[in-house]
Amino acid sequence: MPAGEANGSHGSPGNDQTVLEPGINYVCQRCNACCKWPGDVRLEEDEIGSISRYLKLSEEEFISRYTRLRTNRKGLSIIEKPNHECIMLENGGCLIHEVKPRQCAGFPNKWNFPGWREICEALPVKVNP
Ligand code: SF4
Ligand code: SF4
Repeated sequence: MPAGEANGSHGSPGNDQTVLEPGINYVCQRCNACCKWPGDVRLEEDEIGSISRYLKLSEEEFISRYTRLRTNRKGLSIIEKPNHECIMLENGGCLIHEVKPRQCAGFPNKWNFPGWREICEALPVKVNP
């Protein structure tokens, strides 16, 4: 889930500590809108091994075929297609769903951005904070 339009974003993409709305869990409806949002799909160093193994590629092959520098040049991002969709979005789903980056897994509960509800179909479910 790209974070390029995240000026003024809430939380940090890739963060796995903060819960932005304790008591509410937004359940993803897999509409894929966030995978089509232009911007970086942040890849952290400790995520490279599991995704490479999942794709049956060496880490070097994975990095060279599927990643680029982030916009701020501080780390890697998964690349996008010419239409700005994430390269991993295929046939209506994420090719690496089981091992997708924390940035993807954390949206929208652990980070989001102003106006995110206009693109995201996740349903709010009450949970114990
Ligand atoms: S890695 Fe998967 S979940 Fe993350 S933006 Fe790409 S297609 Fe979406
Ligand atoms: S429901 Fe929200 S989090 Fe799930 S795929 Fe759609 S935009 Fe992304």
